[in-house]
Amino acid sequence: MSDTPAQFDRALTVVGGGVVGLTCALAAADAGWRVQVIDAGHDERASWVAGGMLGSLGEGHPGEEAALALSVESVRRWPTLVKRLDDPAIVTATDSLFVAGSAADAAYLRHLADFVWANQPRTDATLSTVTGREIRSLEPSLSSRLIGGYRAVGEWSIDNRRLLATLRSGGAAAGVRFTDARVESLTDARELAGPRDQVLLAAGLGTATLLPDVPLHAAKGEILRLRRTRWSVPPPGHVVRARIHGRAVYLVPRADGIVVGATQYEAGDVHDRVPQAGGVADLLADAIEVMPGLRTYELTEAGAGLRPCTADGLPIVERIDDHTVVATGHGRNGIVLAPGTADKVLGILEGASA
Ligand SMILES: Cc1cc2nc3c(=O)[nH]c(=O)nc-3n(C[C@H](O)[C@H](O)[C@H](O)COP(=O)(O)OP(=O)(O)OC[C@H]3O[C@@H](n4cnc5c(N)ncnc54)[C@H](O)[C@@H]3O)c2cc1C
Repeated sequence: MSDTPAQFDRALTVVGGGVVGLTCALAAADAGWRVQVIDAGHDERASWVAGGMLGSLGEGHPGEEAALALSVESVRRWPTLVKRLDDPAIVTATDSLFVAGSAADAAYLRHLADFVWANQPRTDATLSTVTGREIRSLEPSLSSRLIGGYRAVGEWSIDNRRLLATLRSGGAAAGVRFTDARVESLTDARELAGPRDQVLLAAGLGTATLLPDVPLHAAKGEILRLRRTRWSVPPPGHVVRARIHGRAVYLVPRADGIVVGATQYEAGDVHDRVPQAGGVADLLADAIEVMPGLRTYELTEAGAGLRPCTADGLPIVERIDDHTVVATGHGRNGIVLAPGTADKVLGILEGASA
């Protein structure tokens, strides 16, 4: 690993057009870099299947103090990114509800909330308790069996597919060039880049193929997309994150429906993006229990993706040699973390080009 700055053109080749690569590309183009993005398509793109929650408080888990701090820092940059993209419709909700199906589920949520309060992250979102009655007055379509939970005002969700399209069009308008191709190796990436270009490897899980030393593992997750029909109750105004029968399920609003997610388990095969029937069945059953009116929605997509994870839950964002920077390993929070990662990558690049 090298920290040595070197003289380079302000030219950047980004490998990977997921949320991380595109956000970095846009930040670099805005800072005056000549940027190209090379990408293998959305079939392998975790940010295409994702739910789009900007969870920071809601993603706080004991033992993950550093990850919580990083998420909170990145979430603070999101309003600026939305303004830069000039597309407020990317944001599908500005508040989240955490709801429990039983006393045991409520105890689990309390455990998470205690962790967040104990760490007192410097955040613009606020977390407060809500009763079952308050949940129903905020979201009348949720089940009357929910017994209470928390409300995070200021914890957003994003339409991830719209975001990817807007990042791409915003990048193109700022001068970013796009090439649809698979990069086979780091040598291949350097050949596709100019000799005085910097290369950013931001290929999500695919980064491990380009750099076998990068320690990534895949956490697979099933996720569903449902569309509202004319007989349906409207989607909730909040992101609804439920704990029910000891399992997590979330409902994330979209303009035309709801994204229901997501399972999480170690993928035995890093190419396995086929949803399993059991994961789909559990998600549907739990989501319908949380919001009975979901029964009349159309199930338009049952998908699965692979989260690019690291052992310590923190992304890898660092220079590995004079030509090359890596940004990967964003796990279950790549959308949350993208603006923070883009700032860090730009700082590393500017160090190299000074
Ligand atoms: C079910 C599910 C739900 C999720 N929900 C959320 C959520 O609500 N909020 C959140 O913040 N995060 C969520 N995530 C996590 C998030 O999707 C990832 O952390 C994020 O997408 C990582 O972004 P990335 O750009 O690094 O990788 P990706 O989005 O996977 O993009 C990598 C890109 O690189 C390209 N690529 C790969 N190899 C090559 C190659 N050799 N040459 C050229 N291109 C290549 C791929 O085609 C792809 O376009 C979820 C993930 C899953 C699976």
